[in-house]
Amino acid sequence: MADSSADARPHALFVAGPFQGHFVPAANLAIKLAAKGFIITFVTTEAFHHMRSDSGASSHDQRDIFSAARSKGLDIRYDVVSDGVPVPPDWRSNLEPVFYAHAHLLQAHVEELLRKLLLAAEPPVTLLIADTLFVWPSTLAKKYGLPYVSFWTQPALVFTLYYHMHLLIANGHFGAIPENRKDTITYVPGVQAIAPADLMSHFHKMNTSAVIHQLVVKSFEEVKGADFVLVNTVQELEDETILALQREKPFYAVGPIFPDGFTMEMVKANLWPEHDCSQWLDSMPPSSVLYVSFGSIYPISERDFSEIVRGVLDSKVNFLWVLRPGSVGTGSEDDPLPEGFREASRGRGMVVPWCSQKEVLLHPAVGGFLTHCGWNSILESMWCGVPLLCFPLIVDQPMNRTLVCQNLRIGLKLGDIGKVRRDHVSNAIRGLMGGEVGESVRREMEEVKKATRSALTPSGSSFKNLDQFIVDLLKHLA
Ligand code: UDP
Repeated sequence: MADSSADARPHALFVAGPFQGHFVPAANLAIKLAAKGFIITFVTTEAFHHMRSDSGASSHDQRDIFSAARSKGLDIRYDVVSDGVPVPPDWRSNLEPVFYAHAHLLQAHVEELLRKLLLAAEPPVTLLIADTLFVWPSTLAKKYGLPYVSFWTQPALVFTLYYHMHLLIANGHFGAIPENRKDTITYVPGVQAIAPADLMSHFHKMNTSAVIHQLVVKSFEEVKGADFVLVNTVQELEDETILALQREKPFYAVGPIFPDGFTMEMVKANLWPEHDCSQWLDSMPPSSVLYVSFGSIYPISERDFSEIVRGVLDSKVNFLWVLRPGSVGTGSEDDPLPEGFREASRGRGMVVPWCSQKEVLLHPAVGGFLTHCGWNSILESMWCGVPLLCFPLIVDQPMNRTLVCQNLRIGLKLGDIGKVRRDHVSNAIRGLMGGEVGESVRREMEEVKKATRSALTPSGSSFKNLDQFIVDLLKHLA
């Protein structure tokens, strides 16, 4: 057993958000910090832990998710806490109970583990790192005299809009009676102009009592008490926003959080078995395939799915479509593809339940990505230089689209929920894959790809920001 009096390494209790898009960057950040000399006790919830091991996707025991890192000498421990309530298998079609449990019940279980690690771990825990969207980290950290490092897995733009929610309310763009202002938002520090229609989805419903809204409000009260904020974004891509946030808090852009660049050694969530698409992609001409995926959580409506499917077929473009079980309509696992789809797409289309998205995006046959605008998908596409076609579904995704299409100009809009039409879909696909507008988007994407990759080199912004965070944290701990 290590001699704790001699072990001066910081020991972080790192509580990851229990969703694919939160868990994976958290696990990869944990590896980066361990490689810099931290001890990490990495924690997820029981439901997420079992979802992963029960999926049959992983040939190794879940507790060995960090085994490769450990075999390189990194000190990463893995633990699991109760969600507080049993999480039903169909939770994706009704997120509210999960959000409720995490808002109200998870804290006690994390606290129990924390007390154990303060008393019995070698060496004891010295800081708390937690997903920003938890509603208790600052309170808990203060109670035990620990610094709190908040980890934000979405763009800085979304962070700052939540952080300045009081300004949206004071200016009547949110929560106004009888209705919200509809003119452009120009007063949020470090943000040039936002159309209210592009705000995060739950700002559109006036329902401030929705669990998701309460969760965001409370978690951003908590983040005001954070000692440091780490963000999975790139300084150069959101410079103005980040500079404005740095006037409020020690705020470090350290993304994209891919250990050792974008290697296949990244920790994966392994929620579903990955289908190998490489042979099929190898048979396709360069940049000819549109990759289609709507992420791991939220389902797309039957209506929108049907319009998009027909638009993809009409476009005559080659495509690879990830259609995970339960991802259309109310979550039924019946095949949602229309009759005749397979014949119509023979020779140019492939549908799989899940794949290694990184391998697909890195393949030279892939020339475009029709995405729901999950932030991880966007970062991965930036790294691979694949231009985007955007169809956001929920929460941060509409705002992420603004960053992609308006600020960075590396993608095109496909239309909006409930309104997207097949003719527009097919035109947009042809435009992105072959047209003049696609050319300009591709050029911008090349620049963004360079910035994204260079951020992780030893002289790059994210590399240096992570080092600076560690220097500042060690000073704080001294
Ligand atoms: N992903 C994957 N295989 C697939 C589809 C998605 O590995 O077939 C991964 C993708 O690489 C990304 C994550 O799932 O890292 C999705 O995260 P994102 O933030 O884009 O969306 P979310 O699932 O959180 O809505």
